[in-house]
Amino acid sequence: MRKLASIQTVNAVEPIPNADAIERVRVLGWWVVCKKGEHKPGDRIVYCEIDSLLPERAEFEFLRASSFKPAQPDAGLPAGFRIKTVRLRGQVSQGICFPLSVLPPGTPTDDGTDVTTALGVVKWEPPLPVGMGGRVKGGFPGFLPKTDETRVQVLLAVLERHRGRTFVVTEKLDGTSFTAFLRDGVFGVCSRNLWMDETDDANLHARVARRVQLEEKLRAVRDRRGFDLAVQAEVIGPSIQGNKYALKEATLRVFNVLNLADGKLLDHADQLAVIADLGLEPVPQLGPLVLNHTVDELVAYSEGTSVLNAKAQREGVVLRPAAEEFDADVGGRLSFKAINPKFLLKYDE
Ligand code: ATP
Ligand code: MN
Repeated sequence: MRKLASIQTVNAVEPIPNADAIERVRVLGWWVVCKKGEHKPGDRIVYCEIDSLLPERAEFEFLRASSFKPAQPDAGLPAGFRIKTVRLRGQVSQGICFPLSVLPPGTPTDDGTDVTTALGVVKWEPPLPVGMGGRVKGGFPGFLPKTDETRVQVLLAVLERHRGRTFVVTEKLDGTSFTAFLRDGVFGVCSRNLWMDETDDANLHARVARRVQLEEKLRAVRDRRGFDLAVQAEVIGPSIQGNKYALKEATLRVFNVLNLADGKLLDHADQLAVIADLGLEPVPQLGPLVLNHTVDELVAYSEGTSVLNAKAQREGVVLRPAAEEFDADVGGRLSFKAINPKFLLKYDE
């Protein structure tokens, strides 16, 4: 689980060229712009990541002019102050720091403690895209993993440990998460968190599955290969996230294939083979990368335009080893994302 608000130690404080009132503070692998002199290395602070929605409290009122978001009852979100990526005097700033005194008395303050709930922070979500409705069949099936990627900024130890190893890089596409499975003869389609009715045309996920004849494709490959399977993909196209790739119709780009006989994710080469066999397309493949990077270097590497549209900033990159493996720091499969700050500055409202 992502820790939106946690206890952290300031790792470094550095000046920002041509700025005398502010400086940059290193927390985990993030840079946060703060008032000069507010923090020094070794200070313990409360750090809130980007996408934190802070409650309306006196301590946070100074954020009203820049960051207030009204409640979104449909999404179960209260009104509050939304923390996002900003650029100040040329320095990208991600997140916000507070003294420990913002916490309710008695809150544990050991390094790394998750204080999201104690502080009343929730994850901000952009308003739901239109056309994402449709009948729901149930919750996300328990036999499938949800599609999540951890941010490299909280994985300093992982970068260190895997230094020198080769990773496979793909472009992270900005659409909406899609899962389809064929299991014991049953075909199903899911959004990020729900099992949708695959026969309901009001549902984007059902429509795109039908358009690419996904059920037929999964049945054919199941028959050829002899095991049930699931694919996880990003749906991109008109009316999804502003259609940054300027596509004419909704399209699937696959990033995971699961063998449901053993519940395991296929390794990268096998995954590409099954995707080709299905007649589908993978997410853009950016090739191998020898991991030899600091967080800042990986974030710089994530910058660039999209393979799908040279006019669009790419959202970022996802890194995985060629063979699936578990990583304790990630808390799951070894796989993580570096998000392009230029993308966040441009599109993140
Ligand atoms: P967070 O809670 O960290 O903000 P989030 O829930 O918004 O994350 P994303 O930032 O969207 O999640 O990152 C994970 C999602 O990225 C996956 O669910 C998947 O739908 C999508 N995705 C797009 N392109 C890729 C790719 N190349 N590889 C893996 N996932 C991808
Ligand atoms: Mn997302």
